[in-house]
Amino acid sequence: KAKKHLGQHFLTDENIARKIVEGLSFEGYNDIMEVGPGMGVLTKYLLEKDHKTYLAEIDNESIEYLKNNYSKITQDNFVGDFLKQDFGFIQREQIAIIGNFPYNISSQILFKIIDHYDIIPEMVGMFQKEVAERTAAVPRTKDYGILSVLVQAYYDVSYLFTVHENVFNPPPKVKSGVIKLTRNPKEGLAGNEILFKQIVKTGFNQRRKKLSNALKPLNIPENLKDHIFLDKRAEELSVLDFIAFTQLWKESL
Ligand code: SAM
Repeated sequence: KAKKHLGQHFLTDENIARKIVEGLSFEGYNDIMEVGPGMGVLTKYLLEKDHKTYLAEIDNESIEYLKNNYSKITQDNFVGDFLKQDFGFIQREQIAIIGNFPYNISSQILFKIIDHYDIIPEMVGMFQKEVAERTAAVPRTKDYGILSVLVQAYYDVSYLFTVHENVFNPPPKVKSGVIKLTRNPKEGLAGNEILFKQIVKTGFNQRRKKLSNALKPLNIPENLKDHIFLDKRAEELSVLDFIAFTQLWKESL
């Protein structure tokens, strides 16, 4: 019954479902959007709260199931494909994101969230363990990379817990990890986002090389050529280092 191309693995453990929902603070926002509610294992705990719950689901069979099995759910709750959201309907209000995410679109989900960080104060979600670890990783580790730096520029990330394959139907091939994002946009980023992303992506593209080499494709500004960071590899720079370096770069353009 589960549709593989939609990343469907249904969580069967109620305690874990409750623990994921309890990862949200439910403070500072009135709206919550669940990505991929499936058969509603998380949704039913969300419906116990006073918050308005939006459901992003693209599987019509799941949508029918949810409407038929939960009296509180109507067509009005559904907002379609998460990747197509522009959150226009909530205007400038704040909305938290939760989900056992479809793993085939993990990084797209994370990038969607950081693109809308101004209206998304919090996210609790389950990814494949490797993606959860990469998002939460600290400098000088093999997991630290583009995903870590880009997400942590906008959010504090905490790794909540690991979930074993055998609590899903059907079981996925890999373990899962639940992480929490709490908005904390770093100072100095505003206005420099595009250059910041370019520097981070290009720097990690050749992660074994010093930044003096890895960043060559971007034409390093002349007066930055002796900067101490260029003698390091991307994984040695903290998120704040990357932001500071971006600011200096911008100033020398
Ligand atoms: N929340 C349920 C659970 O924990 O058992 C289902 C989780 S399952 C891993 C992922 C869900 O995401 C599926 O129900 C799938 O149909 C849905 N989905 C896949 N792509 C989606 C998209 N682009 N937008 C919204 N939902 C999507």
